[in-house]
Amino acid sequence: MTVLALSRFDPDRCQCNSCGAIVHEIDLLTAPHPFDHDNVIRGCPRCKNCDPFDRVCDVAGCLNVSSSGNPFPDGTYRWLCWTHSRSTVGDSAGPQGCAQGESA
Ligand SMILES: [Zn+2]
Ligand SMILES: [Zn+2]
Repeated sequence: MTVLALSRFDPDRCQCNSCGAIVHEIDLLTAPHPFDHDNVIRGCPRCKNCDPFDRVCDVAGCLNVSSSGNPFPDGTYRWLCWTHSRSTVGDSAGPQGCAQGESA
């Protein structure tokens, strides 16, 4: 059984809708919005497209598009795919209750 430890999250990843690249949010191209000066536009570093990006599941190695954000007991807010939101939040023990996963 897979136990999700907090260290195995890889958050802030997006998937480009045009080329499918998985890019960390910090690696996206950004430029001042030409019309709305309070905003920035974001682009894909691979294909240079400015299409919307899908938020990817925060679990490291998981490339599924996240379906919903979930507040965790430790106060963080994670975006998880359908499968992982069931395996963590849906578990009554929660991610903090998985102490047996430490340095196994
Ligand atoms: Zn792209
Ligand atoms: Zn996932």
